[in-house]
Amino acid sequence: MKSSKEALRRLCNPVHEVSAHYFIEQDGAVTQLVGEAERAWHAGVGCWGDCCDVNSSSIGIELCNTGTQPFPKSQILVLKKLLRELMERWAIPTHGIIGHSDMAPGRKQDPGRLFDWKDLADEGLAVFRGCSHAQILPFMTAAKLFGYSISEPGANLDEIESSILEAFRQRFRPNAVGPLCNRDIKVISNLGQSYPFIVNS
Ligand SMILES: [Zn+2]
Repeated sequence: MKSSKEALRRLCNPVHEVSAHYFIEQDGAVTQLVGEAERAWHAGVGCWGDCCDVNSSSIGIELCNTGTQPFPKSQILVLKKLLRELMERWAIPTHGIIGHSDMAPGRKQDPGRLFDWKDLADEGLAVFRGCSHAQILPFMTAAKLFGYSISEPGANLDEIESSILEAFRQRFRPNAVGPLCNRDIKVISNLGQSYPFIVNS
């Protein structure tokens, strides 16, 4: 969206069938659009770990951003405060904080490579990298262990792998480009074994 007003209008109009629980503008103004216990249509179809309806079991936060601009400090400060409250209120583990791009690689691009996941992780609000001595696993094996869904109807394995590679790099190796390399494999192996997806009953 070109402006936060335009985005908010869209998120409030039933015609578009899209909304989120929270919307944070660049100056840090936060609007709650849907009650936390209610379902917001913020994610669409997407999986994480063994959950194949992330949309129905998650709280969605949208950050006002064109997709190509850095996230201002004012916005991130408010995001961090909100995450702290939500994690406490709903007993969400750090591994339970994910991006839309994590649950729908290839389809969703946000929050993108300019979003600083390490900064969140440094404050215990997400996971980043993990132990550096894990066993080296095949990329897709490690990706699945971490939580990425490695099956998608109608897509072949190569397509799925390149979508996951892109989503993974957006979050964990934002400067990486080119084909899958040993560094990707090492980082995802560490992640998968440090933070295996835990089924939440
Ligand atoms: Zn989103």
